Amino acid sequence: KPFIVGLTGGIGSGKTTVANLFAEKGIELVDADIVAREVVAQGSIGLESIKTHFGVEVISANGELNRQALRELVFNDDKQRQWLNNLLHPLIRQTMMQQVAQAQSEYVILVVPLLFENGLDSLVNTTLVVDISPTLQQQRSAKRDNTSAAAIQKIINSQMSREQRLAKAQYVIDNQGDVTKLTQQVNQLHQHFLIQAKQVNS
Ligand code: ATP
Repeated sequence: KPFIVGLTGGIGSGKTTVANLFAEKGIELVDADIVAREVVAQGSIGLESIKTHFGVEVISANGELNRQALRELVFNDDKQRQWLNNLLHPLIRQTMMQQVAQAQSEYVILVVPLLFENGLDSLVNTTLVVDISPTLQQQRSAKRDNTSAAAIQKIINSQMSREQRLAKAQYVIDNQGDVTKLTQQVNQLHQHFLIQAKQVNS
């Protein structure tokens, strides 16, 4: 049974950057955002269920999920949104854990933006938070996505606060410095997780 490190952090904190540094060391990644797309991919049970429930208007001409149409249908409808969450959340959870179970590396990094918010920290052995200030979140997200400060702030506000997240974290990476500093922290944590994973499995 693989040792699972739950990796999280706010928008623009550097989750993907950190995850890729672990991947360079041969550590396998399971990414909640990717799994969330897989469970509604063409031919999936998830997409079929959505089609049966909401009708063909949520399917695009090419047979894929029309996310915009689905968003509009659940936007102002708590009951429908709940129906959708009740379908997708267990599917995403199961698929993530299946992928984790198939991993061959010494431990696995599970990347989940809303790890604590959605209670997925109960599925992992330990938690690692990538931390930066809200000001840096704004700067780095804006640089990457070319979105407005207001749109980024709205997402920051919808997520757990920096303080709440840090209070829940078992390990913290400070990503306010440069990538060299980041890599040093990842190297140290990697050595630490290797030992922990061995202990848990012995
Ligand atoms: P999101 O949740 O929004 O998908 P994320 O947490 O995965 O974001 P990344 O995409 O890894 O964050 O990083 C956000 C941006 O900041 C990227 O453009 C990335 O290249 C940049 N970045 C990450 N770490 C650093 C750093 N230490 N110094 C400068 N830029 C950085």
